[in-house]
Amino acid sequence: MKVIDHIARAQDTLISFEILPPLKGKGIQSLYQHLDPLMEYKPAFINVTYHRSEHVFKKNADGSFQKVVVRKRPGTESICAAIMNRYNVDTVPHLICGGFDINETEDALINLHYLGIDNVLVLRGDAAKNENAFLPEPGGHKYASELLKQVVDLNKGVYLEQDLKNSSQTKFCIGVAGYPEKHFEAPNMESDLHYLKMKVDMGADYIVTQMFFDNEKYFAFVKQCREHGINVPIIPGLKPIYTINQLTMLPKVFHIDIPVELSKEILACKSPEAVEQVGTEWLLHQSRELKKFGVPLLHYYTLGRPNIVGEVVKQLV
Ligand code: FAD
Repeated sequence: MKVIDHIARAQDTLISFEILPPLKGKGIQSLYQHLDPLMEYKPAFINVTYHRSEHVFKKNADGSFQKVVVRKRPGTESICAAIMNRYNVDTVPHLICGGFDINETEDALINLHYLGIDNVLVLRGDAAKNENAFLPEPGGHKYASELLKQVVDLNKGVYLEQDLKNSSQTKFCIGVAGYPEKHFEAPNMESDLHYLKMKVDMGADYIVTQMFFDNEKYFAFVKQCREHGINVPIIPGLKPIYTINQLTMLPKVFHIDIPVELSKEILACKSPEAVEQVGTEWLLHQSRELKKFGVPLLHYYTLGRPNIVGEVVKQLV
């Protein structure tokens, strides 16, 4: 079922989870161990992130180095199918521009359609690890909006080979990313909202936000979106903090702020368990307030400590 249909039919605030494909070699059982305990909270759907290939240098026996391409977390599409099969729950594969040309993107979308997957979260992706800025693949998309257009076209039965006759239409429900604290490359919020509105006007059905730790940022973002005529559901993305290192790592990687009160509480902790406790309470407070505000769904990034997310969701009900 489509994400927007889940939202339209919901009687109460829904829950969804986001997972990463296992590292290559770990096997799918590691993923099931992560998800099994979370499934009792009946998520409406599970998102599976997408990770592009990276260039790494491998040392040869003679001491020279060789540049090789590795994909550390392959299998997003098949993981979605495996999750649907095991848990009978909808899945949302992430689809990115980076590393794909438009023909590979079309093939991926056709595969998802054959697998009975009704949803995609359409993203640009970040710069490759060895690059300073995002570079599209030759023959690939530069912005999420271009990828979105390709999905919208396929939903109309328009394939890259335009002379295909009686082509079947896909029916993807399309999500896009939004940034309550602005995307780090956007010169200002106004510009970021302009391009977000463009994605919605082109056919995005809903927005999922980057993680945030201050609900006021989300409330302000929703207000600004509505003022700019962006009227689709805006799903808050939430993540627990559970280590002191995250206080510096999360702002650096995700370009978000940690509220003073939260950082002070964490820095005052005397043990890792105490940090985890503070992070759990913060997430619970955020979730309760957002639920009260009337968000359609709470989307949790579960990487790292699924038990914290489980604990919070249990207390929410
Ligand atoms: P875009 O919408 O293309 O925007 C990128 C930047 O360009 C913004 O600053 C925007 O304002 C600007 N812009 C947009 N269109 C135009 C235009 N036409 N002209 C000029 N400027 C423009 N990354 C992964 O690699 N894999 C994942 O699975 C993944 N999942 C994510 C899930 C969520 C919920 C979020 C919030 C992010 C996720 N990301 C993921 C990270 C995401 O790929 C990065 O944040 C990326 O830098 C931007 O992606 P986007 O889709 O927002 O890009």
